[in-house]
Amino acid sequence: MKRSFTKRKCSISLRNRLILTYGIFISLALGSLTLIINIFTGVIFTELVKGNIVKKSREIVEAIEEQYNPMSRSFDTLTIEAMGMYFVHDGYIVRLEDNQGNAIWDARSCDMRECMSVISDIAERMEGQFRLGGTVQTQPFPVTYANKAVGTVVIETYGPFFYSETETQFLTSINRLLLLSTTVFTLIGIIISIALSRAIAKPILKAEEAARRIAAAHSNSAKPGQLVIREIRIKEQYKTKELSRLSRSINELAAELEEGERRQKQLTTDIAHELRTPLACLQGDIEAMIDGVYHADRKHLESCHEEIIRLAKLVQDLNTLTSLEWENITLNKSDFDLAQLLRITAEQWNSSALEKGIAINLDIRECPVNADYDRLKQVFINLLSNAVKYTDKGSITISISIKEIDDGVFSGSKNLEKNNRIEVSFSDTGIGIPEEDLPHIFERFYRTDKSRNRNTGGTGIGLTISAAIVHAHGGTITAENNRQNGGAIFKIQI
Ligand code: ADP
Repeated sequence: MKRSFTKRKCSISLRNRLILTYGIFISLALGSLTLIINIFTGVIFTELVKGNIVKKSREIVEAIEEQYNPMSRSFDTLTIEAMGMYFVHDGYIVRLEDNQGNAIWDARSCDMRECMSVISDIAERMEGQFRLGGTVQTQPFPVTYANKAVGTVVIETYGPFFYSETETQFLTSINRLLLLSTTVFTLIGIIISIALSRAIAKPILKAEEAARRIAAAHSNSAKPGQLVIREIRIKEQYKTKELSRLSRSINELAAELEEGERRQKQLTTDIAHELRTPLACLQGDIEAMIDGVYHADRKHLESCHEEIIRLAKLVQDLNTLTSLEWENITLNKSDFDLAQLLRITAEQWNSSALEKGIAINLDIRECPVNADYDRLKQVFINLLSNAVKYTDKGSITISISIKEIDDGVFSGSKNLEKNNRIEVSFSDTGIGIPEEDLPHIFERFYRTDKSRNRNTGGTGIGLTISAAIVHAHGGTITAENNRQNGGAIFKIQI
């Protein structure tokens, strides 16, 4: 048996990614801050310590100078010894020499072990704890009395500098404090990053969940008992612009799908309704003929034939509408004279108009266009047939005019400036369109008066088809009432 293995892409959740990003960022920021503080305090502290060593050396020299007796021209070696051992504890190995270089007092001769132990302690501290290597350094200082050299103090220290015990304690405390604060702030940073990541990820996860539920509701819309799109909305208001835009887009998507579903259901209902009436008429007439209630004479057969024609027209209109609305309309464009097309259309309907006693007036002039001849003809036939259908007296006027418009849409006209458009209007003196119906007149199956249309034979699809064709040409179609003569005016701009 063949088994197929699919490689799963290892993906990290948005929340974890955000936590990781924030965590790395905060740790890096705090780490670099600590390093900078550490380096700076180290540099400043070293300068301070070096200054202290120089100061201390001077103090030692001054203290020894004070022990010079000009009368006996000698130093008080007992006091110097007491002070000297005290200096040794502080890390300063002192040796006092006379002008000839002979030792007057020497800490090393006095207590060599102590001197060695102090220096080795300091060396251990500096190398072990602070990783600052060094050597014992010697510096001579002249001892003067009344500006006369009376000897030399040679001071040995661990160099280039060393930390005293107090300074070591201070530095250690500072480093501990720095480490502690870095740890605490890193922890706080991680907690904040988790909270922040949750706050950002939550709305996105909500949006994702809503989108998934919308998709599920949409694909199961026909199944009873399933969640309906109407019930799925993101109700939370977000203060972040992008998040609020995201939730608004999801809600708009849901509304659009809901509207699409509603229209689809409406279409099915409308088609069923439109088919039911002529079918019922046909069924009634045929059953009456079978039962012998009617004779299958010319009158009844013609009535049946009319219903069949009505049905065939409905099916044909629906077919056209579907191909226009669902398939990409491919326009078969060619160059022709729009006035000529209007003239031909008017001639076709002239006899029907004359039968009703209405005239078709043409106010047109040569107008070359690049458009789909057959599709535009279909639009003009729809509009003219409606005008004839809904006008009982008066006239119908078809006119062409050039309108200046600034909508940036390419005009189908051949010889016009970019912002000029051709306007074709069909104006009649018929019954007009009730104002409340005007906004819906281009919706499919929309008829202002259902009962009347059964007589006029309309399906309520003609204007929808016309609008789709005009829109495919990048144009607009509008309907209004003629306030002066009564009747309706349909205007097409391409
Ligand atoms: P129908 O096949 O019913 O005429 P249309 O889509 O062409 O379908 O028209 C939709 C409705 O618009 C018509 O039923 C009618 O109520 C109204 N209508 C269209 N043209 C006119 C007009 N010239 N005057 C009055 N009403 C009109």
